[in-house]
Amino acid sequence: MIIGIDDTDSREGMCTTYLGAILIEELTVYGSIRGYPILVRLNPTIPYKTRGNAAIAIQIDTKYPDKVIEYVISKIESLAEMQSEKTNPGVVFVHDREYNKSKSALKDFFYDTVHNVMAIENAKNLISKLGLIAKGYKKERGLIGALAATGAMLDSEWDSTYEYLTYRKKEKWGLSRVVDENSIYKSDLDFYPDTWDTVDWENYVIVCVPKSPDPVLYGIRGKDDHTVKSATEDIKSETVERSAVYKTNQGTDMHLINVSSIKEVTDMQSYIVQGTVKNHPYTIEGGHTIFTLGDNSGNTIDCAAYEPTKNFRYLVRKLKTGDNITVYGSVKNQTLNIEKFKINRLVPIYETRNPTCPICNKRMKSAGKNQGFKCRKCKTKAGSSVLVEIDREIETGLYEVPPSARRHLAKPLVRFMSSNYNIFPSR
Ligand code: ATP
Repeated sequence: MIIGIDDTDSREGMCTTYLGAILIEELTVYGSIRGYPILVRLNPTIPYKTRGNAAIAIQIDTKYPDKVIEYVISKIESLAEMQSEKTNPGVVFVHDREYNKSKSALKDFFYDTVHNVMAIENAKNLISKLGLIAKGYKKERGLIGALAATGAMLDSEWDSTYEYLTYRKKEKWGLSRVVDENSIYKSDLDFYPDTWDTVDWENYVIVCVPKSPDPVLYGIRGKDDHTVKSATEDIKSETVERSAVYKTNQGTDMHLINVSSIKEVTDMQSYIVQGTVKNHPYTIEGGHTIFTLGDNSGNTIDCAAYEPTKNFRYLVRKLKTGDNITVYGSVKNQTLNIEKFKINRLVPIYETRNPTCPICNKRMKSAGKNQGFKCRKCKTKAGSSVLVEIDREIETGLYEVPPSARRHLAKPLVRFMSSNYNIFPSR
């Protein structure tokens, strides 16, 4: 049986992955957990999300499905932040006998929920069409993510990474986290690039320890289960109440839709789109850097590197009108929030300079108004100024935001190592 769960947390506490970590331990009374639980990140533009728009799924081999259903429901009812207006939990159960007939529809629903905005009715209609057991609470919005997570469990085709999540003792929730920072930096030194986003060296920030009042102590992300586990072995911290390894779609770019024209870009979706820089990037109040991207058909979209992307904005500011680039990111309010960009072609930029003396090899000086130039040293004369191509101080290739500003779904450049173009990972 597959169990999908979503929307049990609020800004004040809880985390659906914590509920998952409890269930994989406690449900063993009724059967055995198959493989790793799944943590999927869904459409990152969804306004209802608490933090990272996560949903989870667990698979259990059981002879007591009714008992499992009863137990999971009781756990959701006791742990979910029901009092919070924005918490609208949902849980969906897919029996073994329903796998084959449901697989294709649930898989499509999963991809749709990563890419599009779904209505609660979409989820409820599919649940009733497939005859699945499900329970929604309050507005029942959690049914969307819960159903999507079951689709992710049924479909093994997607690119995946792993996260090792540790959780705090209940009495510590809401208090500041005690983690030995040096041991975290060391873990990164020992395991990068097989783990990533543990720390942000450039901005000297610990990325793997959240600041919110939820039960998570830290989470280590990496390429496989074995690596993320090993990377935590020497991390020193307050007592870990429990931990869980999740298979995830984090760091995979699953949210991005490849489009051939800016005309296809709409709000609340995420894209890979190529075009030409139409104006020199400028910085507005708050430190956000903006430029316009245009394509051959005259369509344009504003692209933004927001203040939290820190030094990444300096790279964006090096772009010039005419550069051909590919931009990756989510669109909201008709503005694409840049997660990374690839410079395909840099436009040559020329500057008018005084000519160089052919004898002394020194820059010549003006000889007076409309009188051309002359060499100060040997007095050689020259008629006109010269155009000199200036150094762009940036190369073609892929650039990304720093780890501290990375979206959960965004694929870090360390995962692009086999590309045949330059990559410039931020670390
Ligand atoms: P956390 O990361 O702390 O687990 P969260 O950011 O996952 O929290 P949720 O509390 O799960 O946020 O809230 C997200 C809500 O949005 C859920 O009810 C989920 O079902 C719904 N949702 C997710 N994706 C979509 C989508 N594509 N369209 C419409 N609703 C969605």
